[in-house]
Amino acid sequence: MKENSVFATIYENICRDTGKQNESTKLIVVVRLLTLTMLIHSLTCCVLVSITGHMGALAFSLSSSVLFLALFIISYHWSTFVSYCILNFCILLWSCLNVYCFGWNIGIQHFLVVLLVFVFFCKYRHEPAKILYAASLFVMRLILYYYCRSHEPAIFLDDTLTDALQMTNTFFIFFSLGMLAYLFSSSSQEMEGKLIEYNRKLMKQASTDTLTGLFNRRRTLEYLENLLKAAETQISICLCDIDHFKRVNDTYGHDVGDVVLKKISQTFQKRLPPDTFISRWGGEEFLLIFPRLNGDEAITALQILRQKIREITFDGGFETFTVSLTYGLVEYDYHSDVTTLLKEADEKLYIGKENGRDRIIF
Ligand code: GH3
Ligand code: MG
Ligand code: MG
Repeated sequence: MKENSVFATIYENICRDTGKQNESTKLIVVVRLLTLTMLIHSLTCCVLVSITGHMGALAFSLSSSVLFLALFIISYHWSTFVSYCILNFCILLWSCLNVYCFGWNIGIQHFLVVLLVFVFFCKYRHEPAKILYAASLFVMRLILYYYCRSHEPAIFLDDTLTDALQMTNTFFIFFSLGMLAYLFSSSSQEMEGKLIEYNRKLMKQASTDTLTGLFNRRRTLEYLENLLKAAETQISICLCDIDHFKRVNDTYGHDVGDVVLKKISQTFQKRLPPDTFISRWGGEEFLLIFPRLNGDEAITALQILRQKIREITFDGGFETFTVSLTYGLVEYDYHSDVTTLLKEADEKLYIGKENGRDRIIF
């Protein structure tokens, strides 16, 4: 618990005062985290060099620690852009000084790559400046390399300390790169996730009916076209219509009519086979598509449905009432097109209405 609260306090402090001057919250957090990483790196070096008793290196590491501590404090007082620029400049200068003092073998020059990632992923969109900066880093690295080939380090380190510093630097360079990549990519991944979710919602809105939540006519036609094109199995479709629905509206009100539409839609979803494509074709008319059933199998499913719908009692306010539907069912013959199939189903529905309603015509 105590450990948790220490981390929570550190985290809270890193995120403190991040909303200033309408600047990017994320960038200042990244600046602070990178500064902290550099500070911890310098402190680690302090420990290593003090173990070996190297006073020159200790003085350098202590100065580095003070520098990064000061930069961390400054980030709470100056703008994000200024903190970001100063940190960049300091790491660049500090890397060059390190190479000058300790030579090539401790691997500090790789911090220039950290700077490259830091600059390229940050939100400031000054592309020419970024390219120029990247080129400068490239040139700087080459200069450092050739300088080291012809000059001895200003401060000589023994092999053990060189190895220890090489390992420390490698660890902190990888850590910094990983942290920057994670922090900068997390927002784009988050954005992508949101976009996918938003698209999914839009697609759903465009293909469903708002009152019942069933598929709408546009989506149904699209589905049916594709289904008939593939036509690998038997397909049956059924057009059904609530009987005397106008009377329901006129007697009990439009709101009760809406409740009936919703309840019947739910009954479709509950009572029909799971792969049935259920849609509101318009008004009080529904189109049911059975993608794997022949006519006889579809009739069995519809008989159960019809019975269940007849059993529902609706509250009309001053009395309860029941409703029925008439069903026009057709089986796909592997030749007809969508229009012909729908016309056939509509004709059967009409026959059902003519013959007294509340029945399935096949
Ligand atoms: P039939 O048995 O011949 O189908 O008669 P019907 O009264 O059901 O058919 P009609 O076409 O005369 O009336 C359909 C009614 O459905 C009229 C319309 O106001 C109502 N309606 C259509 N959409 C909605 C809706 O979203 N909500 C409500 N409450 N009523 C709707
Ligand atoms: Mg009707
Ligand atoms: Mg109708």
